[in-house]
Amino acid sequence: MVTTLTSGQRALLEERLELEKRELDRRIALRLGGAGRVEHAREVLLQDADDAPQREADRELDMAMADRDIALQGQVSRALARVQAPEFGLCSDCGTAIAFDRLRLEPWAERCVACETVRERARS
Ligand SMILES: [Zn+2]
Repeated sequence: MVTTLTSGQRALLEERLELEKRELDRRIALRLGGAGRVEHAREVLLQDADDAPQREADRELDMAMADRDIALQGQVSRALARVQAPEFGLCSDCGTAIAFDRLRLEPWAERCVACETVRERARS
């Protein structure tokens, strides 16, 4: 079966993916790069004991977000590599076409809503 996406829809999704990738690259570079380290050093200097637990919590949240960004970056890169392939937009589990409305929101989606739901249930 061939995907039901038109070339216009494909171009739009590719554009969305390129944008998302650039944004992720920027955010990840910012966290890993110089700005993050300077910020961290400044925080350590300014640190006072009262809000240390809050700072620690902030840092953990920041790291969790960085992990999420890196995972998403992988998904976006994979989607970009596939976007012009005939099977792009088909569910990797059951092979049905993923709804364009879903792809427009998450062009890196690899599964249809039904299969994604099954997986999420299995995980929890
Ligand atoms: Zn499916």
